[in-house]
Amino acid sequence: MWLPIDPQSDFSIHNLPYGIFSIDSGPKRAGVALGDQVIDLYALAEMGTFRDLGIQPSVFQSDFLNDYIALGKKVHAALRQRLQVMLEDESSPFRELSGRFLHPQASVQMHLPVKIGDYTDFYSSEQHAFNVGTMFRDPQNALLPNWKHLPVGYHGRSSSIFVSGTNFKRPLGQTRPKDDEPPVFGPTRSLDFELEVATVIGGNTQNGQRVSVAEAEDYVFGFVLFNDWSARDVQKWEYVPLGPFLAKNFFSAISPWVVTTEALAPFRVPAPEQDPAVLPYLKGGKHQNFDVALEVELETTSGQKAIISQSNFKYLYWTVAQQIAHHTINGCNLNVGDLMASGTISGPEPGSYGSMLELTWGGKNPLTLPDGSQRRFFEDGDRLTIRGFSQKEGLKVGFGSVSSTVLPADPF
Ligand code: CA
Repeated sequence: MWLPIDPQSDFSIHNLPYGIFSIDSGPKRAGVALGDQVIDLYALAEMGTFRDLGIQPSVFQSDFLNDYIALGKKVHAALRQRLQVMLEDESSPFRELSGRFLHPQASVQMHLPVKIGDYTDFYSSEQHAFNVGTMFRDPQNALLPNWKHLPVGYHGRSSSIFVSGTNFKRPLGQTRPKDDEPPVFGPTRSLDFELEVATVIGGNTQNGQRVSVAEAEDYVFGFVLFNDWSARDVQKWEYVPLGPFLAKNFFSAISPWVVTTEALAPFRVPAPEQDPAVLPYLKGGKHQNFDVALEVELETTSGQKAIISQSNFKYLYWTVAQQIAHHTINGCNLNVGDLMASGTISGPEPGSYGSMLELTWGGKNPLTLPDGSQRRFFEDGDRLTIRGFSQKEGLKVGFGSVSSTVLPADPF
């Protein structure tokens, strides 16, 4: 390849994830990350690069990727191949012209990559569901009776999902700190993260149309890292009987680059065997997960950084394909740009739990950080970064990261 890339870069030629960027106050455009550069798809399209693929340049001069995603997987595959051939051809005419369509990532601003229509949050990691059930209910019956029969989920809110680098104020809310006293109002005292990966839906379905497990990945464009910030004390008081509400919808963050299913294909791994057997509509397809290493870094106001969790996207009991099949079994329709989050992904070891709730076991075992401070939950000024990448045999496909900083609550 004629463009030198650090072999440790998340954005190898095998990855080519999509995002939306701008330069200075210029218009938003679609781009592809490569090494420390952004490939400007609009500029390339204006040069006629994709004319024979039936892609109009205007689809890339856009605030969101939705119109490009809607062109379908054949077009995405053709564009991916076109870029790879162009970059690997040492005598490519594009080499001389690279100044017209390459921008250093350090010089661009990243934006929300998709206009998110509907947002669904699943609860698909067995270890996470087991940990929460053990803490709040009964270790002997940690999983509720439905958990191994269907991918539990709820409808969230898309308006408060922001791109990495956006910060947020500690939310205010109603809690009941003591079970025998009335509720109180104030800033949450149990601000938590949730380590998740979210699926970007890549196709529309009609209302009434069901998507089988085997077809489900035809409706997946790709994935982003997802931090579903949560207020545990608000959640504990409000969630009965209808589930999460204000504890979850104040702020969530996603990574800016959408990594496609094609890029992750070499990292498919068998998903856990399911016992008891699931109903027939949840069977079929390849029953695979993706092996994506995930890590969570906490930076405190002292500037010290610590990795507080290491997990993996492969620790899902319910696969993405099963989530989609279940979501549509009643005829619920999908739209391009819908986001479906995995739920907190916890691995089998305590160091791989995907929330502070689990890492500190409900606050009982605080984490001690390198600067000597302790955390049960997060404090103002804390900055959390989630990273994710797949790697094997010299092949690396990464997500980059999603970061946000906790700002102090408003006076109340
Ligand atoms: Ca969640």
